[in-house]
Amino acid sequence: LIYSTWWVGDNLSSLMQSVGASEKVFQLMDLLPSDQFISKGKKSSRLQRLVGHVEFVNVSFHYATRPTVPVLQSISLSVKPNEVVAIVGLSGSGKSTLVNLLLRLYEPTNGQILIDGFPLQELDVKWWRERIGFVGQEPKLFRMDISSNISYGCTRDIRQEDVEWAAKQAYAHDFILALPNGYHTLVDDDLLSGGQKQRIAIARAILRDPTILILDEATSALDAESEHNVKGVLRAVRSDKTMRRTVIVIAHRLSTIQAADRIVVMDAGRIVETGSHRELVVDDGLYARLTRRQADAVA
Ligand code: ATP
Repeated sequence: LIYSTWWVGDNLSSLMQSVGASEKVFQLMDLLPSDQFISKGKKSSRLQRLVGHVEFVNVSFHYATRPTVPVLQSISLSVKPNEVVAIVGLSGSGKSTLVNLLLRLYEPTNGQILIDGFPLQELDVKWWRERIGFVGQEPKLFRMDISSNISYGCTRDIRQEDVEWAAKQAYAHDFILALPNGYHTLVDDDLLSGGQKQRIAIARAILRDPTILILDEATSALDAESEHNVKGVLRAVRSDKTMRRTVIVIAHRLSTIQAADRIVVMDAGRIVETGSHRELVVDDGLYARLTRRQADAVA
């Protein structure tokens, strides 16, 4: 599933004003029958301090529209606070669906997701989404200048130097300075490449200082620059203490995520392998096969 959005609380209408976004947003809404949106206020707990431990406990899921097709089957996965986990697997293996459940676009059919040991479905949705930074494959920007695009949706007071710090972490600072009016350049349809848009969206996510950062890497067909984008974020998370947080990356190019703490390999809705890049190469299973296949494709 390729969709992309960035949650401004539950404010879908502001998404619709984004540059070139309306069609995609309608597609997204078409994909999500209205009863799949979890109503606000159904459960409204907030955790006093969120550490960022994400746990899938025996989670199974099928989309309501296709009840006979199991999409996730008995997924158990614990992502520790500040851990960088990459999720890989063939198209259709269930990677985006796993993230959809974490974003609470859908509820598990069976099993549950725990956040710091607390059931996700009991948490206030808006509160929860404010703590997640999500960068999708085709991020949407707004008809405002670059600085406002980066600070958009931030609830605290933001100084220009905060915006520039986030842009540096997202490897966006240099190309922004090269624009006609730097950070004050107005964003329109043709201003930025796909990879640059993704960097602005990453800066936006980072500025909100989310406890959990979720990146859906653009596929190579969409943009060759995104490999560098994801690698850059992983480097920043490693090297800058202020960037430490739980990171979940859906990776389409395996070369991007070799430095992840853990790689989770999915196949037909199940987790079939987990380990570091080295461990999985030694194991010589699906991950090793996929890596060889991609290396051949590039060569
Ligand atoms: P890709 O790498 O292509 O993004 P993926 O690993 O993220 O794939 P998913 O998008 O999670 O896989 O899809 C898993 C399965 O769920 C697929 O069979 C897909 O057709 C199906 N699916 C995805 N979204 C929906 C939906 N909204 N309604 C019904 N089925 C869906």
